[in-house]
Amino acid sequence: MNIGIMGTGYVGLVHGAVLSSYGFNVTCMDVDEHKIKQLAAGISPIYEPGLEQLIQRGIESGTLSFTSNAQQVVQTSDVIFIAVGTPSKKDGSADLSYVRSVVQTISNHLNGYKVVVCKSTLPIGSSSRIAEQLNGALQASGASFRVDVASNPEFLRQGQAVSDALSPSRIVIGTNSDAAKQMLQRIYATQIERKVPVLYTNAETAEMVKYAANSFLAVKISFINELALLAEKVGANIDDIAEGMGLDSRISPHFLQAGPGYGGSCFPKDTEAVVDIGKRNGEDLLVVQAAIQANKKQKQKMITKIASRLSFNGKLRGRTVAVWGLSFKPDTDDIRDAPSRDIIQGLVDLGATVKVYCPQGMRQARRLWSELNGAIHYCDSEAESAANADAIVLMTEWAQFRNVDLAAIASNMRGNRAMFDLRNMFAMNTDVQQLFSYYGVGTYSEP
Ligand code: NAD
Repeated sequence: MNIGIMGTGYVGLVHGAVLSSYGFNVTCMDVDEHKIKQLAAGISPIYEPGLEQLIQRGIESGTLSFTSNAQQVVQTSDVIFIAVGTPSKKDGSADLSYVRSVVQTISNHLNGYKVVVCKSTLPIGSSSRIAEQLNGALQASGASFRVDVASNPEFLRQGQAVSDALSPSRIVIGTNSDAAKQMLQRIYATQIERKVPVLYTNAETAEMVKYAANSFLAVKISFINELALLAEKVGANIDDIAEGMGLDSRISPHFLQAGPGYGGSCFPKDTEAVVDIGKRNGEDLLVVQAAIQANKKQKQKMITKIASRLSFNGKLRGRTVAVWGLSFKPDTDDIRDAPSRDIIQGLVDLGATVKVYCPQGMRQARRLWSELNGAIHYCDSEAESAANADAIVLMTEWAQFRNVDLAAIASNMRGNRAMFDLRNMFAMNTDVQQLFSYYGVGTYSEP
């Protein structure tokens, strides 16, 4: 079976590389020619553990190739996955311009029956509309064939995308077409044999499962973050509260880690998009709206927390803050909508000198945060960023931060040597807490 993947970002590239490792002939297509050149040379343009090796193995074995020639991919593929981005528009709705463009490209080049699979997160009803558009054009051109369109949302987690794609938590297949269903069963045969749960449903339900899952996780994060703010006020410990809650199997301990607010390329945009879809359908999704509001408040609260401990008269002029971790979570270079961005902006606005270090996010930050380039200093290590700083703000729980020589780092800092551990990474470590004026999230009593 020949598989074409349109869009080689975090989802398309990982999916394509994993399918090629199962022996399918996979061609990944992208409009970004620089990316395609890098990929064809076996270089991954993004950081995901194990991804570059998988790409190289696919190229060597001849099952994985890269192109910017859309016509070739459409015409030689039996199944075409759409995996382009669906970012937020200013009004919160999903920007479908990349999807429209790719669907038009597919439409222009169709030469026989194919299954088109929507892997991008798409507003509910999109897959059916794509089917209408493609088959409408085929009918108008007098073609003797049609295409099937299925929704097959992606649930991989960045930072562990390859292992998630190899062993997904579930596979959701949304289509009313038996042919499309069978094709997807063949594609996922390895995972199905390994007893990965599969949900067969219609396209609308599949599309909504994705929004429901991401919104629910965002709600869970905002819930624990809000309780963390209260815990600080009343002398309770949010990590113990989360543990006490999570021991109830109806609640589960996952996604109950208090922090600086959720971010990344999915939760912020998908929560906004589902609220927009609700409004368009006359349903106010109040719980999701509250999660979005609470998330904005959380980031602001973190800025206030830092400022209130470091400031002169509410300003941070003359203060130097080291920020550790820019990516929205560990083991990824993705900084899209990362909470670090808002918190750094808040510190810069208050006049702080900000020095940043991230194991993988620096290249993307330099590229995507160009408006901050004059205002922040990029450093090559934790130690360089913290030298002569008044405070460290630990934004992302990269495992390597546990192994740095914090005593040496603290000795090169100045003032009260504050550590704002926004991931509670050292909340149980009294040695670390003695080196710094230590502030976690929801783990100590506010004076
Ligand atoms: P991305 O921005 O990393 O990648 C999108 C790619 O599509 C880019 O390389 C871009 O150049 C390419 N592209 C744009 N227009 C194109 C066109 N007309 N033809 C071919 N390629 C084109 O996006 P992503 O993070 O991989 O997300 C893709 C989709 O998957 C989104 O809808 C997202 O919500 C969803 N999703 C993402 C994740 C995640 O963790 N990133 C997880 C699940 C679902």
